Amino acid sequence: MTDFDVVVVGAGVTGLTVANRLHAAGRRVLVLEARDRVGGRLLTEDVEGVRLEVGGQWVSPDQAALLALIDELDLEMYSRYRAGDSVYIGRDGVRRTFEGEKFPVSETTAAEVERLVKELDRLAAMMDPLSPWEHPDAEELDRISFAAWLAEQTDDPEARDNVGLYVGPAMLTKPAHSFSALSAVLMAASAGGFSHLVDADFILDRRVVGGLQRVPLALAARLPEGTVRLDEAVTKIEWTEDGATVFTGRGAYRGRHVVLAVPPTLVSRVQYIPALPPVQAQMRQHISFGLVIKLHITYETPFWRDLGLSGTAFSPYSLVHEAYDNTNEDVEGETRGTLVGFVSDVKADGLLALSAEERRRKVLEALAAYYGEQALTPVHYYESPWMADEWTVGAFGTSFDIGSLTRYGRHLRSDVGPLAFASSDIAGLGFQHVDGAIRMGEAVAARILA
Ligand code: FAD
Repeated sequence: MTDFDVVVVGAGVTGLTVANRLHAAGRRVLVLEARDRVGGRLLTEDVEGVRLEVGGQWVSPDQAALLALIDELDLEMYSRYRAGDSVYIGRDGVRRTFEGEKFPVSETTAAEVERLVKELDRLAAMMDPLSPWEHPDAEELDRISFAAWLAEQTDDPEARDNVGLYVGPAMLTKPAHSFSALSAVLMAASAGGFSHLVDADFILDRRVVGGLQRVPLALAARLPEGTVRLDEAVTKIEWTEDGATVFTGRGAYRGRHVVLAVPPTLVSRVQYIPALPPVQAQMRQHISFGLVIKLHITYETPFWRDLGLSGTAFSPYSLVHEAYDNTNEDVEGETRGTLVGFVSDVKADGLLALSAEERRRKVLEALAAYYGEQALTPVHYYESPWMADEWTVGAFGTSFDIGSLTRYGRHLRSDVGPLAFASSDIAGLGFQHVDGAIRMGEAVAARILA
C-alpha cells in the first residue's frame, strides 16, 4: 500500500485547494474523487450546443479568496449583462418594471423592507461568521425560525415575503420557517452584510471567461500526474491517532492525515472504524442540503434586451422566484440569449412531482409573466440535476436546522485524530460559496503544515 502525507477525499475546490497548498509545501498528496471529473458543484458543460454553468458561476466583490485565486490562475472575468429595466411581480399579481435598486412596492412596504435590511445588517455586523454561536443574541436568534422572527418584526406581508426571499429561496434554498434567524444572520455576515444579499448587482457580479469550472480544472492541472484519482468513491476509513487507511472500490491508501473535503451530509456516508465520536455523528444529522432547481433557457436572441429589459426579474409570488440574463458574453459570435432562473424549496418539491413536459410548461409560463409571450418559445431548455446527483444531493449547500447552530456549530471544524473536515458548507466568510471552499481548504492545509 502506498503511503501519503495527506489523502484528500473530494476533488471540489476545497479538496483541490488543500492538495495544491500541501503539494507546494513539498507534501506527498493523493486526491480521491468519486465522480469521473473534478470540480464538484462547479460544472461548465456543453449541453446540446449551449455552454451552461450547471453549478456555481457568479463571483462577487466580497469573495476575496476566490478573486485572488482567479488572479493567481490567470483567468479572466466579465460582467453580467444588466442594462435596462428589471421586472417585479407584487403580491397583487401585477407586473411592474423598475430602474435601479428600489423595487416597485408601496411606500410603507419599501420603508419596512429598508428597516428590516438595516436591522439584519446591524445583527450581521455583530457576528464573526466563523463563530456565529458567539453572537450576543445567538441563543435567542437560533431558537426562532427566520419566518417567525420576520413576523415579530413587521406585520407587512410583502416586506416579510421579500426579505424572507433573499435568504430562504435565494440563498439557503429552504423555506424561511425551516431555519433559524441566526442562520439567516450567518448567511448575511458571511457575505459582508445583509445589504449585499439584497443587491443582485453585487452578489451576482461577474463570471469567469470559459466558465467557473476552469478554477478547479486549473487547480487539478497544477498537481503532478496521478495525484487526482477519479471514479474512486471512498467507502471506509480505518483510523488511529497516527494515521488512516482509506478504502475505495479500487484500492486502499494510507495517509498520515486525511481531509474529508466533502459536504457534511456526505461525511456520514463513509464508514469509520472506529466510529466518529458521538457529537460528530449527531451533529451531521442536523445538517441538510437545501433544494433549488437551476434552469437554463436559451432563445434565438436575447429578445428581452430589445424590450428595454435587463433580464433581471424576481417575485416571491412566482414559481421562478428570480431570473437573470445569463448569455455567454465570452463566446465569440454568440447571437442566442440565455436566461437563468431558479425554483426553490417547496415550489421545487411541487415542480419535481410533475412530468418533464409539465415542468417545462409551468416554468415557461412563469417566465412569460416576467418577459412576455416570447419567453414561451425557447430553442433550448435545461434543468440542473443536483438534487438527484448522489455526490451532492441538493443545492446550493447545507445548513443547520433550528437550534443546531448554537448546539453543534463549534464542532464543525474540529479534527478527529488524523481526520480533518472542510467544505464551503462549514466556512465563515464565503459560507456556501466558492470563496468559502478556498478559505476552508487553505485553513486545513495551514493546520496540517503547522
Ligand atoms: P463540492 O464541490 O461539493 O466538492 C466535494 C467533492 O467531493 C465532489 O467532487 C464529490 O463528488 C466528492 N465526494 C463526495 N463524497 C465522496 C466520497 N465518499 N469519496 C470521494 N469523493 C467524494 N457558489 C458561488 O460562489 N457562486 C455561485 O454562483 C454559486 N452558484 C451555485 C449554483 C449551484 C446550482 C450550486 C449547486 C452551487 C452553487 N454555488 C455557488 C456553491 C459552490 O458551487 C460550492 O459552494 C462550492 O463549489 C463547493 O465546493 P466544495 O469543494 O466545498 O464541495
